[in-house]
Amino acid sequence: MVDQDPNFTLPPNVTCFSRSINAQTSERHQYLSRLRNRDLPYQAFRETANHLFELIADAMLPHLESHEVILTPIFRAGLSLLPVFMSKIENSRLCSIGVKRNEDTAEPEPYLFKVPPEIAPDAKFVILEPMIATAGTMCYSLGMMKKQGYKLKNIEIISIFCALEAVEKLQNEFPEVHIHTEVVDPILDEHKYIVPGCGDFGDRYFGT
Ligand code: URA
Repeated sequence: MVDQDPNFTLPPNVTCFSRSINAQTSERHQYLSRLRNRDLPYQAFRETANHLFELIADAMLPHLESHEVILTPIFRAGLSLLPVFMSKIENSRLCSIGVKRNEDTAEPEPYLFKVPPEIAPDAKFVILEPMIATAGTMCYSLGMMKKQGYKLKNIEIISIFCALEAVEKLQNEFPEVHIHTEVVDPILDEHKYIVPGCGDFGDRYFGT
């Protein structure tokens, strides 16, 4: 396993849970190491990921108090966070985002963007995306939400593995949006996978 370089600094719009010093940190590091282990069977991967989701959801609750919460998974991997977040955040509603690459133009295009009706003006959108590698889909989704008139300062992103490159791109393009991630990994490989990362999160979580 490649260790995270502890020296790189993160911009102020990023909370990186595995860097904080508290009683939970070693438990979280154990969960992360398990997820990084490519030999972990999918049921164990899912259970381990769910433990981390619970810790993250608990840490998010104070930020969401007194707001309507719109849980916004980015399909497909973002769906993995939904059961835990729905069970922790009462009355939360669902916004669905699906973005695919147009095979002719290579540009991202949405196949799904469905916001629930009549949301409160100060509703918080909590975007669920466990892996943020290049932040291409994320920036596209944020741009789409901005164009529709949703306030960027009311958007929080939840991730497990975020690449340093993605953090920097999000900071440059959407500094108002806060990212809450378990870890920031330093490298993307030639296939734009996060290194060390955990491989394809959706495949490993859903057993596909
Ligand atoms: N999506 C994944 O599932 N894994 C990566 O490493 C990058 C994007």
